[in-house]
Amino acid sequence: GSPSCECNDCFAGPDCSLPLPDCVADAISGDPLLFEAYWRKNSDLGAVVIPAWYRMGYQTRDVTSMPYTEALVASIRELHAMVGNAVTEGRYIAFGTGSTQLINAVIHSLALQDPGRVTPVVSKAPYYNAYYTQTEYFKSPFYSFSGEPDRKVGQQGPAQIEVIASPNNPTTQIQEVPQNVSGHVVYDHAYYWPHLTPITKAVDYDIMLFTLSKLTGHAGSRIGWVILKDFDLYTKVLRYADVSTIGLGHEAQLRASQLIRTIIDGYSEGNSGREGIFHFAHDVLQSRWAKLQAIFQNVSRFSLQELKPGYCSFFKRVSDPSPGYAWIRCNREEDADCSAVLLSAGIIGRAGPIFGTTPRYVRLSLLKRASHFDNLADHLLKLVAQS
Ligand code: PMP
Repeated sequence: GSPSCECNDCFAGPDCSLPLPDCVADAISGDPLLFEAYWRKNSDLGAVVIPAWYRMGYQTRDVTSMPYTEALVASIRELHAMVGNAVTEGRYIAFGTGSTQLINAVIHSLALQDPGRVTPVVSKAPYYNAYYTQTEYFKSPFYSFSGEPDRKVGQQGPAQIEVIASPNNPTTQIQEVPQNVSGHVVYDHAYYWPHLTPITKAVDYDIMLFTLSKLTGHAGSRIGWVILKDFDLYTKVLRYADVSTIGLGHEAQLRASQLIRTIIDGYSEGNSGREGIFHFAHDVLQSRWAKLQAIFQNVSRFSLQELKPGYCSFFKRVSDPSPGYAWIRCNREEDADCSAVLLSAGIIGRAGPIFGTTPRYVRLSLLKRASHFDNLADHLLKLVAQS
């Protein structure tokens, strides 16, 4: 590839030596570009060659048979077993065009199980914005977004569909299983991988979402999966994908299964895994977090979310925090619009209200390339020095 794609937001040109005017640090998106360096360094790994005749036809639409590339399903079960982060034995696995498609597929399918009413969709703020955006955008007669979960003790009210990201986006904190839930809980485990948080148990909920995006970094391949206990829900999710897109691209499935196979091989017996993707990404994110902590140390104007080291059963050691996002609070009275404060220092983040919370908060992505992060750190240092 062209080296110019490695330039940060302040430089251009074939060797990134041309300074750009009005240089900013763009940390708004969670595009997981940090993985690019890993795959470039290991460029013999994970590649696929696809002959022109490979699976030209539509994916099978028969919901009673296995509609997906078998190697993909097998590799995902094996990966979860190896990492120890989720139970898949005896569970159904359905795929989506990213987990983005599955968020709505699951909400729609759950609501269809009780079609006689408008099921409230709830999520505790700050929540990942797609839960709100999609639910509102599709304006269904079967469900609507209704904000905070209702947790009245002994409540016998209408069942809700609650969506919980754990670790959470934007705060990166693990969210515990709520008490007094009425209805279904959809667990979004996009970030429950050892490079992003210590793995403490194999999660075993009824509905669990995962994505290739934050696992290998191949966000553009649009592969997500949901692990389900209930067969009826599984068939409804398949039907949703069939009606909306006639399933997934075969190329993306093949690429995903090859990438996941590569990860498993990297950690197989006789291979220490030192060069494996989880070690790589954890080292990168841990050092970024340490750098941020140093920048914000003894700075009262801003605070970062609190994260603690924890024992990771996959790494078999205590793992230092390695979040994908910084969740920043502006503490000064006059800094009520935190994203505006950062913007005036040339830093573009995602404002609190997008996550259903106050403008006092802003999310900065730590998931992009090294050049992006270094640029962000430079801008933050300057801002903190003025404060
Ligand atoms: N869930 C969460 C919590 C996310 O942060 C994201 C991506 N930012 C997604 C789901 C969607 O991921 P994708 O559609 O790429 O699988």
